[in-house]
Amino acid sequence: MNNTDQCRAIEELNPLCQILLNKALRDIKASGINPLIVETYRSQVRQNYLYSLGRTVKGTKVTWTQVSIHTKRNAIDLVPQRKIDGKMTAIWNAQDKETKKIIAIMIGYGFEAGANWSTSPDSPHFQIKGVSATSKSFGSTNTNVYITKMIQNALNDKIKVGLIDDGKWGSNTTKAVNIFRSQFKWKEDGKVGVETLKKLLG
Ligand SMILES: [Zn+2]
Repeated sequence: MNNTDQCRAIEELNPLCQILLNKALRDIKASGINPLIVETYRSQVRQNYLYSLGRTVKGTKVTWTQVSIHTKRNAIDLVPQRKIDGKMTAIWNAQDKETKKIIAIMIGYGFEAGANWSTSPDSPHFQIKGVSATSKSFGSTNTNVYITKMIQNALNDKIKVGLIDDGKWGSNTTKAVNIFRSQFKWKEDGKVGVETLKKLLG
């Protein structure tokens, strides 16, 4: 694979991001939509190459940044595809009904949707910002408003703690995570790692 080629492999994403994406894809397919993963991990070399298009290299501009969450293994470009005139066609339209359904499902799993950005909206783009490429858990210092909200809702669902799902990870969220973890006799470190996330969403 050339280092400017596009990567579609889910396995190249951060392990936490993989769990969330796989859950979302299951729900997307269950609602009758055929999702197309356009891109997952992107090397910095490819990001720089994309940035050069329409600038130092001839072509149309395709990106506005050299700093992308794709390089941090926490972003996915995802669109619906369906048969149009007998041909499977990717739908690149933020107003499309299936696109909107994908956006709603992805947000439910803690992804920030590029479609909702007020400046330069990026409809196929979904990301988990503020979490490193190699991070093994979400926690008070390693999260963002969308992930925190998803975790608060999952905790409310599983252990009926009545957390306010405000997306702010305070002491009540940490306490609830520890109550949840204690059920499995896991160390009460206030973190949601791979196993905790699987149990929370299972
Ligand atoms: Zn993207």
